[in-house]
Amino acid sequence: MKDQRDTAASRYRRATQIARTGNDPAEFFGFVNPPVVHASTVLFPDVETSFAGTQRYTYGRRGSPGVDALCNVMNALEGSESTILVPTGLVACTVPLAAVTKAGDRVLIVDNAYAPTRKFCDGFLTRFGVEVVYFDPLDVETYARLLKSPTAAVFLEAPGSLTFEVPDVPLLAGMAKEVGATVMLDNTWATPLYFRPLDHGCDISMHAATKYIAGHSDLLLGTISANGEAAEKVKKTWDEWGEHVGPDDVYLTYRGVKTLDVRLERHQRNARIVAEWLAADPRVHRVLYPALPGAPGHEIWKRDFSGATGLFAITLKGDRESAARVVDTLDLFGIGFSWGGFESLATLPMVQRVRTATTWPEDEQLIRLHIGLEDPQDLIEDLDRGLAAFAG
Ligand SMILES: *Cc1c(COP(=O)(O)O)cnc(C)c1O
Repeated sequence: MKDQRDTAASRYRRATQIARTGNDPAEFFGFVNPPVVHASTVLFPDVETSFAGTQRYTYGRRGSPGVDALCNVMNALEGSESTILVPTGLVACTVPLAAVTKAGDRVLIVDNAYAPTRKFCDGFLTRFGVEVVYFDPLDVETYARLLKSPTAAVFLEAPGSLTFEVPDVPLLAGMAKEVGATVMLDNTWATPLYFRPLDHGCDISMHAATKYIAGHSDLLLGTISANGEAAEKVKKTWDEWGEHVGPDDVYLTYRGVKTLDVRLERHQRNARIVAEWLAADPRVHRVLYPALPGAPGHEIWKRDFSGATGLFAITLKGDRESAARVVDTLDLFGIGFSWGGFESLATLPMVQRVRTATTWPEDEQLIRLHIGLEDPQDLIEDLDRGLAAFAG
């Protein structure tokens, strides 16, 4: 039988890579999918082998066929040499930060980073002597000035959590590389199907696979993909911290990623229909969906991204109570954190609470929507009812 891992070769197009990369069925009796190995102990034939480092698997924490299968797919999609798995998307953000910094270093963190990432920076990193500086992703002049002081790492997210600003990643990454900083990007929104950070000057790409990659709202998992020296540093910290993901979640993520392409096509189509309807509604102040012509960040999104997913925000001019009424009135949009599953969700975050380098207008309420796989016409009718509650 042919070696399945060979199909990761770039001669194949994306859909083929997703369908055919991962495990080699010939290695496990021809079964199409990789085995789910529940394992801590792995046995060696003799003492010499146990120290030689030649056996493929040596201990539960150090890999298994299922882990390899998922990492092979992620490497093919990200264009990376190395992917490691961690228990959550948050860990995927914190391990690289810890891996490339030491006491006395300084890091630049994009102001619209996922809020728990900020918490790690303000807590753990600060406590261990790393100086944390937040910056506005759209203010290149200030960013350039900040880079004049020695900087160990730059942390980006594109587009940013909640507010969907699209940074000029090649520009910001290029400027950071000039001063020798490691550039990492939380790529959860776009997935590696619609944006490949390593092709745009970043050193490390991270995902909450919890979201679209696993895609069914039933598990938490993070991935970190990188090349060369950055990959070595990340792997070292990952190993020192003893990160591990249970085999069932690895398997479910592998199963999820196999349909990522088709799911995202539908999320994108539905989101576009709903976003266009919202953009035409006078009750809506702004639609923050980079894929929408005229939306903030659209031009850069069009230049750098090959698609958009189902997560965006709308803003309403008014008080928080009225906006809460909208969200409370919705039937099809569950009120829940997370996103990337098959179901639609809505949240009413407190934006200014998680910003320090930028300001969010007090009279503009932001509702974040995840557009799921329901019929978009039903979602529109639901939003229409919700917005009526705002007006009333
Ligand atoms: C959800 C999320 C994370 C964290 O993922 P968990 O698996 O929930 O820890 C990180 N970054 C972004 C942008 C997210 O949306």
